[in-house]
Amino acid sequence: MPELPEVETIARGLAARVTGDVIESVWLGSKPEPLKSPAPEIVRTLESRRIAGVRRVGKHIVFDLEHARRRSSPARKKGRSKTMRAKTPAAQAPAQWIVHLGMTGRVLVCQPEEEIAKHTHAIARLASGRELRFVDPRRFGRLSVTHGFAAPGSEPLEVELGRFVDLFRGRKTPIKSALLNQKLLSGVGNIYADESLFRAGIRPRRRAASLTKEELQRLYLSIPEVLKEAIALGGSSVSDYVDSDGEEGFFQLQHRVYGREGEPCLVCKTPIKRVVIAGRSSHYCPKCQK
Ligand SMILES: [Zn+2]
Repeated sequence: MPELPEVETIARGLAARVTGDVIESVWLGSKPEPLKSPAPEIVRTLESRRIAGVRRVGKHIVFDLEHARRRSSPARKKGRSKTMRAKTPAAQAPAQWIVHLGMTGRVLVCQPEEEIAKHTHAIARLASGRELRFVDPRRFGRLSVTHGFAAPGSEPLEVELGRFVDLFRGRKTPIKSALLNQKLLSGVGNIYADESLFRAGIRPRRRAASLTKEELQRLYLSIPEVLKEAIALGGSSVSDYVDSDGEEGFFQLQHRVYGREGEPCLVCKTPIKRVVIAGRSSHYCPKCQK
């Protein structure tokens, strides 16, 4: 499942490829699950829009859309009803196309002659001749459109210390669960929660409210440290991910605890423990983490 660093990497890759391009038309598949907004609304919002940018918000990919100015060659557009639609005030307001990749979702930049993969749920045809395709075999991914998208939680790479400390005040849930709660921090997933807690020296089962100011401060620093390392490592694999179906290149971050149950801690050689917290595997060093 793509976590924040992967989504950041994918969003940057897409931004480099499609910013400035115009979505000319949209095809949506018949499976209802991937569509979080009504199909006609998605089509209406995307068509004739210019992609002003692509960014990550939490674990979402956000395409910022603006009204595409009419070309100087009106003959090309003649007879197309969607240019009429684009004239309405609602269609001229900035909008966002939100993609959540779920477990297996991918956004591909394709040439039109490339074979359409099985489980393709959406195709946006671009003025450049290329296509943006959303492919998702397991259909946990979601497509929606909105005006003014905001993630429910704080952004872990931008949140200020005071706000960060406030997020956990009085919370009786394990700190691991609190880190995964998307309403508190947006986009911290299982792997990076474990890795951040290890670097901060905090056991995942500790109640969030029991963390001292110093521990919270260490956690505050370790989360972006881990995420930024992973983003830096993921950057080199952008083209693979976006253009083909290879997922290699991700999760290159050397995990210090995640997935290392029974293996020696890289700091003190104590075997790494695994516990299940709120249904999620959690890994920690019983000696380094208190
Ligand atoms: Zn250790």
